[in-house]
Amino acid sequence: MKAQPKASHFIDGEYVEDTAGTVIESIYPATGEVIARLHAATPAIVEKAIAAAKRAQPEWAAMSPTARGRILKRAAEIMRERNRELSELETLDTGKPIQETIVADPTSGADSFEFFGGIAAAALNGDYIPLGGDFAYTKRVPLGVCVGIGAWNYPQQIACWKGAPALAAGNAMVFKPSENTPLGALKIAEILVEAGLPKGLYNVIQGDRSTGPLLVNHPDVAKVSLTGSVPTGKKVAAAAAAELKHVTMELGGKSPLIVFDDADLESAIGGAMLGNFYSTGQVCSNGTRVFVQKKIKEAFLMRLKERTEAIVIGDPMDEATQLGPMVSRAQRDKVLSYIETGKSEGARLLTGGGIPNHVSGEGTYIQPTVFADVTDEMTIAREEIFGPVMCVLDFDDEPEVVARANATEFGLSAGVFTADLARAHRVADQLEAGTLWINAYNLAPVEIPFGGSKQSGFGRENSVAALNHYTELKTVYVGMGKVEAPY
Ligand code: NAD
Repeated sequence: MKAQPKASHFIDGEYVEDTAGTVIESIYPATGEVIARLHAATPAIVEKAIAAAKRAQPEWAAMSPTARGRILKRAAEIMRERNRELSELETLDTGKPIQETIVADPTSGADSFEFFGGIAAAALNGDYIPLGGDFAYTKRVPLGVCVGIGAWNYPQQIACWKGAPALAAGNAMVFKPSENTPLGALKIAEILVEAGLPKGLYNVIQGDRSTGPLLVNHPDVAKVSLTGSVPTGKKVAAAAAAELKHVTMELGGKSPLIVFDDADLESAIGGAMLGNFYSTGQVCSNGTRVFVQKKIKEAFLMRLKERTEAIVIGDPMDEATQLGPMVSRAQRDKVLSYIETGKSEGARLLTGGGIPNHVSGEGTYIQPTVFADVTDEMTIAREEIFGPVMCVLDFDDEPEVVARANATEFGLSAGVFTADLARAHRVADQLEAGTLWINAYNLAPVEIPFGGSKQSGFGRENSVAALNHYTELKTVYVGMGKVEAPY
C-alpha cells in the first residue's frame, strides 16, 4: 500500500519539496508498512510558507465575506464528493477504522467549511454605539498570518477546524500536521485551491517538535492555534507569550463521565464506550473516569464487559471493523505501560489489558480495556492515557462525585447520565469543564463551541466563538462636533 503525496509541503498553491529536511516516515498502523516518505520543513521552507501567507492575506481580507464564504462552501462540496477517498487516506494516516472515518473525519471537516463559509457574511459584523451626537462603531478585523499545529488523532478534522474559521475571517494559515499523520492536511490544501482559494492562503508544511517553534517564534505570525498535549501547550503558549501572540490551546483531558443510578443503563454504557473506545481511545475529550453510582455498579460492569468483549477488532479497511490499531508503536507501548501500572496499583482488570491474539504481527492493536474499583489517587485515574482504557470508579452521592470529578488539573469535558433533569443541570453547572454532555457523550457538531478550561486550554473551536478567536476588535470613535478643550 502506498500513499506517497506529490511532495512534502504545499506552499503558495503548489506542492514543494526540500530533501534537505529530516525524513518523516508515514507508517500504516495496521501493518507497520511505510506508505510514504516525506521531509520535515527546513528553515527555508518555513520562511517560504510564511512569506506566501503574508503576501496573500491582505487581498483576501479585502474581499467580501460572502465571496470568501463561497469558496469555502465549494471546498466543503468537493470534500463530500471525495469522502471515500479522503476517508481511506485518513484510515491509512491514523489506522482508524473506515467505519468511523467515513462518517466522522472528512465529513466534519466539510461541515466546518460549510458552516464558516455560510456565517462569514453575517457573523463578522460590528456594532454601532450611539453616544448622543458622537458615535462609535466596531469592526472585526483578521489577525493576519495564523499558524495551526495539529495532533494525530483527527488530522483532517483539525486541519479544517483551524483553517475554516481562520480563512472565513480573512486570515492566511500555515498548518503543520503531526509528524505521525502527515498526509491528510495536504489533500485539504489541494482541495481548497481547487475550490478557488487564491494561492498562499492555506499552506501545509511538515515537521515535528523541532519545526513547531520555527513557526511559533516567527515575527510575522500573529496567532497560534495548537491541538496537542498539555506539556506542549505550555511550551507553545510560553513561546507565543514572549511576543504577545494570540493563542488557542486545545489540549488534553481526564474527563469525568458520571452515571447516576436512575440513568438509562444501556445509553450510559453506550456513552461510556463511545467516550473511551472510539478512535481506539485517542480522543482528547474522552470520559476516561467513569463514575458509577454504587447501586447500579455491578449491573453496569456486567453489561459493559459483555458489550466491550463483542467489539470487532481488525483490519481498519474492513467496514465491519469497529476498533483499529493505535496510531503508533510508541503510543501503544505507552498505553500498555499504563495498563501495567493500573494492575500494580490495585485496580481490577475487568476485560482487555493486552494485545489481541488474532491481529498480531506488526499492527499496533490493543484490546479495549476496562478497569473497575479504580480509586482517585491511582495513576490511571489521574493521567491522560490516550488509548482505549476505561477507568470505572464508584460513588455514593452527588456532592461527593462532583467534588471528585473536579479534583483534576484538566477541564476539557464532562458528562452526566441521569433521568433527573434538575440534577443533570445542577451537576453540569458545577462541573469544571469547557464542554459538557447530558445523556450523550463526545458529540461535537460545528454549531457548538468546543474547548477546555483549566489546563485543558483556552479559546474555542467551532461556532461563532471560533471566528472571534481569529479576529480582533477595532473601535472607531467619531466626533460629530467641535473639540472642546479646557486649555
Ligand atoms: P503533542 O503535544 O505531542 O504534539 C502536538 C503537535 O505539537 C504536533 O504537531 C507536534 O509536532 C507539535 N509540537 C510538539 N512540540 C512542539 C513545540 N515545542 N512547539 C511547537 N509545536 C510542537 O500531542 P500529540 O501526541 O500529537 O496528540 C495527543 C494530545 O493531543 C493529547 O494530549 C490529546 O488530548 C490532545 N488533543 C487535544 C484535542 C483538543 O481539541 N483539546 C484534540 C486532539 C488531541
